[in-house]
Amino acid sequence: MKKSNASKLTLSVHAGSVGDPLFGGVVTPIYPSAAYNYEAEVRYPRYYNTPNQKAVVEKLVALENGEDGLVFSSGMAAIMTSLFAIVKAGDHVLFQNDLYGGTHHAALHELERYGMEYTMADITDLKSFEKYIRPNTKVIYVETPSNPLLKITDLKGVARLAKEYGIITIIDNTFASPVNQNPVDLGIDIVTHSGTKYIGGHSDICCGAMVSSKKLTEQIRQSALHFGGSLDAQTCYLVERSLKTIVLRVQKQNENALAIARYLEKESRVANVYYPGLKNHPGHAIAKRQMPGGFGGMLSFEVKTNPDKFIKKLEYIKRAISLGGVESTIAQPVKTSHAKLTAAERKTVGIKDSLVRLSVGIEDTNDLVADIRQAL
Ligand SMILES: *Cc1c(COP(=O)(O)O)cnc(C)c1O
Repeated sequence: MKKSNASKLTLSVHAGSVGDPLFGGVVTPIYPSAAYNYEAEVRYPRYYNTPNQKAVVEKLVALENGEDGLVFSSGMAAIMTSLFAIVKAGDHVLFQNDLYGGTHHAALHELERYGMEYTMADITDLKSFEKYIRPNTKVIYVETPSNPLLKITDLKGVARLAKEYGIITIIDNTFASPVNQNPVDLGIDIVTHSGTKYIGGHSDICCGAMVSSKKLTEQIRQSALHFGGSLDAQTCYLVERSLKTIVLRVQKQNENALAIARYLEKESRVANVYYPGLKNHPGHAIAKRQMPGGFGGMLSFEVKTNPDKFIKKLEYIKRAISLGGVESTIAQPVKTSHAKLTAAERKTVGIKDSLVRLSVGIEDTNDLVADIRQAL
């Protein structure tokens, strides 16, 4: 896959999109074949090498500055396949402790069953995080910005630390999107995404992806064809179409989220605002360095009014789980991602009952601010 100096706006439209050689159409045709002539290259959907899968991968690889990648049927398929392709029984995985709920749950319920060890540790101070590295640590797994408090992990620092010990690094880059943050540039080995969020971008596709070097991608592909979480041609086509507007969408989401965060900061009916684009956010300086595209479309805040009544009164912002769509959505972590935690556990991770998490869409900035103001 060719590295290009073109801007992400250009790459999002053109990279990987081959057009129609038969009739001269400008978009990639949908190739639904599950049976291919084996005299040429042996192609098969579960081998992750069909034309529509390749179109998506080439676009993502161009946007993430990687060498190769794979597209999956969900974010969890991308994450678990990448992890399980690298680790084996006897290995130790070191996770940062702010993890997406599904990943947290998977670590708790799968790793030890397969004879692997794991630790979840605070990563805000890398010096104390380093103490959790064991002789058998194979992978350091991070996620930044994190859910739902938008904590920032220093990716360059993590990559440097991991290289010192010969450890492979994996990141869940879902919240940032490939538009805002490219972990490969900072030395991270494997980038994973829930494509269900910003990559799909319209709240109507479930998919996932990983991007890495050619070597690691091939290692992961060998396991991926056993685990079988491949994506079909029709959905690949929709993902390719979605990716053509990802830069425009995310730029608008960055702009809206920053404006809303700045408004909320001054709003007397709101207690704390968590957004890495705000100067008083503890990770602001690092975020500014490692997120050149913008601070993202996710933010959370604590309301002083009743959070349930506040959400009900919103007109445009819909109550929904998931994130990254063109429509703004809002959720209470206490009722969704962190419902399984006890009140005491929530207190230790800093999630109050009054916390709401906003996924900012591409609507007009003033309409969104006005909607929040009237609901408060
Ligand atoms: C949604 C999400 C996932 C899981 O993705 P699925 O597509 O639902 O499998 C993983 N990580 C993060 C940060 C997510 O938001």
